[in-house]
Amino acid sequence: MKLIKQFDIISLLLWSILSFNFIENVNSIHNFQCLRSIRGPVIYDDGDNTILFQSLIIGENTRVHYTPSVLIYAIDNEDVKKAVNCAVESNTDIIARSGGHSYENYGLGGRDGVMVLDVTFIDEIIIDSKRRTAKIGAGNRLGVIYYKLSQAGFILPGGTCSSVGIGGHALGGGHGYFGRKHGLACDNVISMEMVLANGTLIHIDRTLNSDLYFALRGAGASYGIVTHFVVRIHPIPPQVTFMKFVFDVTQVQQLISALDEVGPSLDDGIGFKLRLYNYSLFIIASYLGPRTEAQNAMEKFLSKAPKPKSSEYTQQSFLETFAALANTNKYEVMKPSHHPIFYKTKSFYINVGERLTKDGVDFLMKFLNEPRCDGALATFDLYGGAINNRDHGTAFIHRDSNYCIHIEAYNAECVDEINRFGKEFQSNFTSKYSNQVIIDRELDNWRERRPVPQIPLDANPVWTLVSKWAPASNLNV
Ligand SMILES: Cc1cc2nc3c(=O)[nH]c(=O)nc-3n(C[C@H](O)[C@H](O)[C@H](O)COP(=O)(O)OP(=O)(O)OC[C@H]3O[C@@H](n4cnc5c(N)ncnc54)[C@H](O)[C@@H]3O)c2cc1C
Repeated sequence: MKLIKQFDIISLLLWSILSFNFIENVNSIHNFQCLRSIRGPVIYDDGDNTILFQSLIIGENTRVHYTPSVLIYAIDNEDVKKAVNCAVESNTDIIARSGGHSYENYGLGGRDGVMVLDVTFIDEIIIDSKRRTAKIGAGNRLGVIYYKLSQAGFILPGGTCSSVGIGGHALGGGHGYFGRKHGLACDNVISMEMVLANGTLIHIDRTLNSDLYFALRGAGASYGIVTHFVVRIHPIPPQVTFMKFVFDVTQVQQLISALDEVGPSLDDGIGFKLRLYNYSLFIIASYLGPRTEAQNAMEKFLSKAPKPKSSEYTQQSFLETFAALANTNKYEVMKPSHHPIFYKTKSFYINVGERLTKDGVDFLMKFLNEPRCDGALATFDLYGGAINNRDHGTAFIHRDSNYCIHIEAYNAECVDEINRFGKEFQSNFTSKYSNQVIIDRELDNWRERRPVPQIPLDANPVWTLVSKWAPASNLNV
């Protein structure tokens, strides 16, 4: 096997399933001569290593397939600069990939033939406990970040799926159970290092390149390749509580009504997801504190809600709670692996002062009970608290929302159905906006439905920034 030194393909594949540290010793021939000086692995499909190449494409969503021209694993800022310069020189599009969890596989460029610049090996996490900050390489997955920060007694709020990458996540917002207390991942970004389309490395913070600082926190996956984030981290309380409440599905109207009435005003220590799935209806929640406080905090909601069939309050360590929220185990959190599946996801918002009407709930239930969409899942992510705080000054546009509803279909027969449903649901029952990190190619008028906000500094729209910062860009938008 001429392309792979030191490992045979079977052990590489096995390793790739178990870990992300699998290609440090892989080398390859160079179809792009200008990539020769890159120190990290540069991998092409030359016919001999097709299985390896395909496995490294990841393809988290098996519904959409794209084949890159090359996979470049940068190990530092210099490698990223060289790769961007090479893309420009060879007139090839280049895209950054962090965790490969874009809902439409945009980490592969959303089309064939793109150079993929993977930042997996830019993975340092340097914690400054005194200043309560951490420098995080853009190649880190959320699980590893939760694990390492929690070992030092800290948390960065973000999503629950351990294998999501911090790159796409923090640049698009980053919502999770601890956001009502500490904000979105992007709200906690203090500064970034980024390679521009002209190959230069810049520092971005509140004062240096402040227009990018605004745009990259909430609408960020196009302006360059971010290599490092410096983030604010928060102390973890000694006890954290995992909660689960199961309801009879016939109580869905009353439950959503209680959510509309009191959900956003609940204690901001509560993180909360309501789920409707296969005729089951339940709430998974967390509280950043002990069980007795959690019970008191939930009372405001439970006094309005129908009586649950069962209730669970489990007080445990932060990491155990996180693993339970993610429906996984601590090992998977520490060593996240990919589990590609087929899905089509859409997102909707109910804004402050509005509610999901009875007809809206009925319309949603009708879709979920459609036989072609068997197994489809609707999740209501509760906002309020720090998530609705506008003071962060970011490009995340959904600060006036009670909750985000995201709906996932898991089989091919349901794709047309969910697209039809989505149009009607959004026209008749929800706000017209969708979530930036829930990329949805079938969204009509996507610029209007994922609008880019005005920049407060000079009132230029973010789209102007793209031309300012990436002139003649080969960066894939
Ligand atoms: C199973 C699953 C669970 C999820 N759970 C949550 C959740 O709980 N909360 C939530 O808010 N979101 C969640 N998401 C959405 C997720 O946050 C977004 O899809 C996010 O964009 C994924 O980031 P990534 O780096 O893993 O993906 P990638 O596919 O690597 O990247 C996504 C986009 O970001 C760009 N990008 C990535 N890294 C960089 C970089 N270093 N510099 C510049 N651009 C970059 C890519 O080019 C691409 O356009 C989930 C997604 C999945 C598939």
